[in-house]
Amino acid sequence: MASFKCKDMGMKCKFELKDENQEELMQIVALHSEKTHNMKQPLPPDMMARLRIAIKK
Ligand SMILES: [Zn+2]
Repeated sequence: MASFKCKDMGMKCKFELKDENQEELMQIVALHSEKTHNMKQPLPPDMMARLRIAIKK
């Protein structure tokens, strides 16, 4: 089970997510970051790296 908390990305955001599939989780997080945090998609490599670190397995 992979899990993600937006605050682990340094965001003041209560968004949390769990998913069996890490790739699926990353897609949902990317969607969230676009809609909630106005981040352009695809995320730049440094953001992707931070995202991967923030995901707990
Ligand atoms: Zn968020």
